[in-house]
Amino acid sequence: KSTRLDSKENESEHLPIYQHKAKLIQAVKDSTFLVVTGETGSGKTTQLPKYLHQAGKLSFYGKIGITQPRRVAAITVAQRVAQEMQCNLGREVGYQVRFDDCTSPSTVVKYMTDGCLLREILADPVLSQYSVVVLDEVHERTYKIDLFLVYLLQDILLGLLKKMFSNPAKTPKGRSIPLKVVVMSATLETDKLSAFLGGCPIFAIPGRAFPVTCTFGFAVGPKDIESTGYVVKVALDVHTSEMAGDILVFLTGQSEIERACDLLYEKAESIDYRYDVQDQTVEGLLILPLYGSMPTDQQRQIFQPPPSGIRKCVVATNIAATSLTINGIKYIIDSGFVKQLNHNSRVGMDILEVVPISKSEAQQRAGRAGRTSAGKCFRIYTKEFWEKSMPEYTVPEIQRTSLTAVILTLKCLGVHDVIRFPYLDCPEERFILEALKQLYQYDAIDRRGRVTKLGELMVEFPLHPGLTRAVLKAASLGCEDLLLPVAAMLSVENIFIRPGHPEKQKEADKKHRALAAKSGSMNDFATLLSVFQSCKSSDRPSAWCKDNWIHWRALKSAFSVETQLREILLRLQQKKDFPVDTFDGNKSELFRRCLCTGYFTNVARRSVGKVFCTMDGHGSMVHFHPSSSLFDQEDELNWVIFHDVLVTSRVYIRTVCPIRYEWVKDLLPKLHEVDVYELSGVARE
Ligand code: ADP
Ligand code: MG
Repeated sequence: KSTRLDSKENESEHLPIYQHKAKLIQAVKDSTFLVVTGETGSGKTTQLPKYLHQAGKLSFYGKIGITQPRRVAAITVAQRVAQEMQCNLGREVGYQVRFDDCTSPSTVVKYMTDGCLLREILADPVLSQYSVVVLDEVHERTYKIDLFLVYLLQDILLGLLKKMFSNPAKTPKGRSIPLKVVVMSATLETDKLSAFLGGCPIFAIPGRAFPVTCTFGFAVGPKDIESTGYVVKVALDVHTSEMAGDILVFLTGQSEIERACDLLYEKAESIDYRYDVQDQTVEGLLILPLYGSMPTDQQRQIFQPPPSGIRKCVVATNIAATSLTINGIKYIIDSGFVKQLNHNSRVGMDILEVVPISKSEAQQRAGRAGRTSAGKCFRIYTKEFWEKSMPEYTVPEIQRTSLTAVILTLKCLGVHDVIRFPYLDCPEERFILEALKQLYQYDAIDRRGRVTKLGELMVEFPLHPGLTRAVLKAASLGCEDLLLPVAAMLSVENIFIRPGHPEKQKEADKKHRALAAKSGSMNDFATLLSVFQSCKSSDRPSAWCKDNWIHWRALKSAFSVETQLREILLRLQQKKDFPVDTFDGNKSELFRRCLCTGYFTNVARRSVGKVFCTMDGHGSMVHFHPSSSLFDQEDELNWVIFHDVLVTSRVYIRTVCPIRYEWVKDLLPKLHEVDVYELSGVARE
């Protein structure tokens, strides 16, 4: 076993960053802020923290924290570094992402998401346990109207760190030694960033890239990608006609990836290697999916070299473009699309949409084929599509946490003027105003923009503020057992198995409908609660899941999330001024009325036939999503609340619950009667 680990250590010595080790350590020592850039795959994320740790025995006291925008990256990279340093994950090297803390008191190299670091700052503004903080993946950003961004979170971290540590003469109270801040990126406007950080030094790791030949295909729109048939065909063509070397396919999201993998597997089975493959060293195809919500043990496989004679084909989301580097890739198949959470002004909400990537993003994807030798990139879209439909620059990726939660955190950190906070790139004011408005609606801030007692409780929950509001309402009434499981279930993805195959789908639908009926009250939130409880009380929960077409893995996560949320709540309930309410309504309404306190922003009223209309001022026409247990019974209902929306050619609402108008009557005016300028504090000047 030890020889294997040794070889890992040697392997990392071939990375471009290795030759600059000593200089890099010195550069970090020499200044408070440092910008580091280098091609994706040069070793920044895995090596720099390790170097600093090794040097640390001499010069750095305290922990080294590294942030990643994506949780998968935080986890897999931590695994790798633990392996290289020959320690168990969670000991010297660990990670922390939302709902998953794999660290211990002995952890000194800690990978985490941006959101996690923000939470740590909330608890300890000078980050007294850290000697170095590395903000990773701070990429070039071009703001686009209608998008609200992951970069806001990074901007806030940068702004806070700058505010706290930019005066080298003054070590903040609570620290004995100044903090070192490193900002890393593959594609960074380094000058702009260095200027923002007071003209700090820039360390560029010289890259080495081999040429990549790009060709275009025939696909013209998202339909061609969603069907996945064409992508699979291109992949198989590459497999059967190109020399040895692994394939990386960029698709949009989990369901497309799973579908493509199934299809690939089916087709690859029937390849006759005696005649079809030019390069006789390739005699099989190993198909591996890669996406964010994938179980970690499966993610690990992605990095393993395939058995000899077998070609590896990784089908991934955009995560493989900059966050993760897979060795051995020689061929790229680029779908040209990405799925991202956009702010949609038509419905006034954030929704997942499939949009074309930018040209610079396409170049970044292609570059993944040229790391160790010349490569090829097969763009499945046409040249015309590239010219006409793809924007020049990177459209930044979006964070799942809403801006509302981030703004509340800022407020709780004592940053009152959230509009004039020093952002690297100022976000559009209307997004901030929108967030303030929502916080006011949830009673997290008062009319003048000051955090309320409730707001201080809300900031402790890593949930959407609306959901937190409902949980706290339930807790104040002593019925948190109803809401905590629902919040946990809404925080994990893909609970219900949708097999796709028509016959099996029918079977699954039947089971799911039975589960909904079992909950006693026809609403999708109650179904989630019932699934959670039934599974939890089952003697053989995994078998129960299989029987009911439920993902057991998702349920396991939901159980763990629920426990964590319960711990947070218990801690808050011990505070003496935790709110206590009484409920004098009908017992059977309790659950839904708690939901209303958080979801009154998502109310819809039936308009005509099966069409509903939202009550948030946008008046969007919406339809029930077929996955709702209330689908097809729309005409028997009048008022509903819903968890989220899905936009295709229509706007669908998902996770729906019927309510009565009286329950939201007093809350609805709050949606309209807000003076945002008073909230933001701008009006007072
Ligand atoms: P950068 O941050 O500069 O893009 P990384 O540090 O992420 O570069 O990657 C350096 C090398 O480490 C790459 O060759 C990559 O394949 C490898 N690597 C990263 N994570 C893993 C992992 N979990 N398992 C195996 N190899 C990995
Ligand atoms: Mg990296």
